[in-house]
Amino acid sequence: MQVPLLDLRDQYAPLRDEIMKEIAEICDSQHFILGDKVAKLEKELTEYCGVPHVCGVTSGSDALLIALMVENIGAGDEVITTPFTFFATAGAIARTGAKPVFVDIDEDTYNINPELIEAAVTEKTRAIIPVHLFGQCCDMDKINAIAKKHNLIVIEDAAQSIGAEYKGHRAGSMGDYGCFSFFPSKNLGCFGDGGAVSTNNAERFKLLNIFRNHGQGSTYIHKYVGGNFRLDALQAGILSIKLRELNKWHDGRARNAAIYRELFAASKIGGAVKLPGVADSTTRHIYNQFSVRIGGGKREAVRNFLRENNVGCNVYYPLSLHLQDCFAYLGGKPGDFPVSEAISQEILALPIFPELKKEQLEYVVATIEKAL
Ligand SMILES: *Cc1c(COP(=O)(O)O)cnc(C)c1O
Repeated sequence: MQVPLLDLRDQYAPLRDEIMKEIAEICDSQHFILGDKVAKLEKELTEYCGVPHVCGVTSGSDALLIALMVENIGAGDEVITTPFTFFATAGAIARTGAKPVFVDIDEDTYNINPELIEAAVTEKTRAIIPVHLFGQCCDMDKINAIAKKHNLIVIEDAAQSIGAEYKGHRAGSMGDYGCFSFFPSKNLGCFGDGGAVSTNNAERFKLLNIFRNHGQGSTYIHKYVGGNFRLDALQAGILSIKLRELNKWHDGRARNAAIYRELFAASKIGGAVKLPGVADSTTRHIYNQFSVRIGGGKREAVRNFLRENNVGCNVYYPLSLHLQDCFAYLGGKPGDFPVSEAISQEILALPIFPELKKEQLEYVVATIEKAL
């Protein structure tokens, strides 16, 4: 039995003809940057995410960067985020010249712990970037309350969580900005790099459009220094087709997560593997990853055993960001964020993509049982 961590070919096969036709149409038009296809996708995303404005950009990383740039966040400013996330979250903050300030995470959801945020706020703090990790939203009521009290911007990093819900609200609709990635391994992936920024505010939307095109208000007149953050028509055309299938794919992942939970409960593994927590019954977790915790120093052994037995798995993320060399200048040291550090030693993502068969999930759990 082979169980890859992710294989997108089965998802692509039924859409292939339609996507090929779309690509051909765009090639025939020779209109590749922004334009109708991007505008159409942006409109569809506003409806899908329940937010009035969406601006297509080059990647999830650039989505974070452009939101910070529009807010004129830079040298002398601090931005609060989690140390347990993909690098791009903190990387975007550092690229503006602002200082990333880390706050430890919740051990059940792996998301930033809102109870610890306020202690990290200083007079230099300008924004909070909560990351909806692995497909589950952060506790946004608490985060927004802190932001309101201290007059901070909230930039949701929803790169892994398009369509995830918190108390009936979709990811990216609850903060001042929502940042999405269409990297191929996200639940909604394009055929290269792509991203989007959502906002509830018409003025911010106007600025996003200007900043993604080198700060150009009208042709060759530059009021700001922006960048080339433009989404291209081929990616937008492909994404419009895939967006129609997205809820079905989310449901497939949720179904697989439920099967895993049953299989683990029925196994002899017991507490040796801790399954990802779901905040409450209003949470819609879209399971971009199904990341379990394997304690007792056994994670590496289980990971190797799974790979030897043809089960794909991966560690997101092996090193808490405050311990990365590139952030040594921030003065982080072991012990600063104990939950993030502990989880980085224990976490392991298992295959969860919607096309997996029940037998494959059974094989994953049986192989873990054997490994332990
Ligand atoms: C993927 C990801 C990004 C970056 O998105 P790209 O499109 O790869 O640039 C940012 N934040 C998180 C949490 C991500 O998972």
